[in-house]
Amino acid sequence: MGCSVSIVGGNHSGYGLLGDLVMEMEHHFHGVEADHASGCIRVEAGVKLQALAAKAAEAGLIVPLGTAPSVGIGLILQGGVGHLTRRLGLALDAVQSIQLVLAAGDVVTVDRESSDESKKDLFWALCGCGPNFGVVTSLELKAAQLQSFRATRHIFRLPTSTAEATTLLRDYMLRARSLTRDCCSDCCLYMADDLTEQDGMLMGIYDFNLGCDVPPMKTSAQLVLNRVDEGLDTVQLMAQEPYLCEQPAGVVQRGFLCSRFFACDAEISEAVVESLKEAPSRHCYFHFQHMGGAVADGSSAFLARDAEWSLVISAAWAEDEGDCSHWVKSVMEVLLPVALGCYATDLGPDDVDLARQTFGTHTSRLLRLKQKWDPGNMFRHGFPLSQLGQAP
Ligand SMILES: Cc1cc2nc3c(=O)[nH]c(=O)nc-3n(C[C@H](O)[C@H](O)[C@H](O)COP(=O)(O)OP(=O)(O)OC[C@H]3O[C@@H](n4cnc5c(N)ncnc54)[C@H](O)[C@@H]3O)c2cc1C
Repeated sequence: MGCSVSIVGGNHSGYGLLGDLVMEMEHHFHGVEADHASGCIRVEAGVKLQALAAKAAEAGLIVPLGTAPSVGIGLILQGGVGHLTRRLGLALDAVQSIQLVLAAGDVVTVDRESSDESKKDLFWALCGCGPNFGVVTSLELKAAQLQSFRATRHIFRLPTSTAEATTLLRDYMLRARSLTRDCCSDCCLYMADDLTEQDGMLMGIYDFNLGCDVPPMKTSAQLVLNRVDEGLDTVQLMAQEPYLCEQPAGVVQRGFLCSRFFACDAEISEAVVESLKEAPSRHCYFHFQHMGGAVADGSSAFLARDAEWSLVISAAWAEDEGDCSHWVKSVMEVLLPVALGCYATDLGPDDVDLARQTFGTHTSRLLRLKQKWDPGNMFRHGFPLSQLGQAP
């Protein structure tokens, strides 16, 4: 096999560091220009989400991104689920054009509306499986007018009985599904900070909305925190990252592994509650990132357009605990059979089985395009596309 190239954006996956040639985008590609009149943002590939959101806000614009400020462009090329997703779609749905260097060395710009079918096809593949096709140097994004948000955080003590806890989680899921596109409701399940049998598990419900009325969560569960922040802009919204707000202060985490997949129904509630009860460290947790809404309107290589949630299963552990990453894998085994599939962002060269559950019916088209644009598999250190079969 020939020389491989890998790219480091925000470096949240670690796969960008595995190539024979490693290209770090941050040092050379850090420009962002936002134009209020056209609603267009041009961003270079080394920029992190916080800087992008801040520049957009300065110009009175918002663009759908993820929720963590330090994440980079790898998120936009593979999906991008955040608090604006239900209203504006995934981050990749905002992309209008992409400039990249192909494996053959050509610099090309491909865009959504291109009349050249071959470039349109490449654009389709880049929006979902981008890291497999070249070195992206810049993107143009379509933005919306800036609005301010209300963030409401309700934290409930989860009933100790599995049946009651499951009902509470199911109620959250049913309520979330009924909300309008102007509201996104995330949920985290995690262990209480000062863990005793009585404290048990907590459920944090995080509503982010554009000023619409949101029905409160109806439950008899004990409310331990009720906080409302008004008038937030998109940069401040990132500081409201669910769960991390509640992390016990000063915890030294020795390791971290997370995995994401897409869910559309309520049948996973009991399995989620039981899995958390069996977690090997109290730092393990679940985060339901709310999708739905505008996600269904988009069209690209990204497959899970019917997903109502991206469920993030995270194992973290303290210095005096053993590696708990096996917990994430065992939870995935239980939940994946009833899921819509996996999220490409977390998958690397060794995750072929999970990769098979990512692009579904889009896989053969992606394989054909991979064969056309990167026949030597130069870009092979992220999502293992070429290991999923032969090009048709
Ligand atoms: C703390 C944390 C919070 C997260 N929050 C969210 C969230 O809210 N929503 C969400 O959808 N996802 C989220 N993710 C997942 C995130 O989308 C992925 O980890 C994503 O791959 C990170 O992109 P990156 O640029 O930061 O990382 P990198 O590791 O630099 O890049 C990821 C992949 O993209 C490739 N890549 C990066 N830049 C380029 C480029 N210019 N051209 C071609 N390929 C490139 C890399 O080679 C690598 O394969 C989160 C992850 C973490 C660790």
